[in-house]
Amino acid sequence: MQIASNTVVSIDYTLTNDQQQVLDSSEGREPLKYLHGAGNIIPGLEQALEGQESGTELNVDIPPESAYGPRDPELIQDVSKEAFQGVDQIEPGMQFRAQTPSGDRVVTVTDVKDEQVTIDANHPLAGETLHFAVTIREVREATDEEQQHGHVH
Ligand code: ZN
Repeated sequence: MQIASNTVVSIDYTLTNDQQQVLDSSEGREPLKYLHGAGNIIPGLEQALEGQESGTELNVDIPPESAYGPRDPELIQDVSKEAFQGVDQIEPGMQFRAQTPSGDRVVTVTDVKDEQVTIDANHPLAGETLHFAVTIREVREATDEEQQHGHVH
């Protein structure tokens, strides 16, 4: 069966960046299942999988525009340490959920100085070209309920 809108697709995948570091992988886990055509995965990967069949292995290079977008310098901000009340120790790499002008976002602490914390509300993979090695395990028709809900059950 070919991948098209309203099919449920199972894939094994390994995601690497330009430095060949593995960022994410389904290895040792269940394959990733998603509803095709519903925006459940990044646009570049969804486009590359369109029309493919189970058993196919493919390598896909996805520029930031078709992945998590470019890195926006305006989303990097300095805030006072007082904004983190209740957190014992603030360290670079910590992530928090925060209200930002562009909505509810995960922000990452990138720098900590005396009373000032630098946070980055960009997606951690913003600005990155992503390289996916994908094996398509299964393609099936979505149920009516899955189609209505826009996700896999
Ligand atoms: Zn549902």
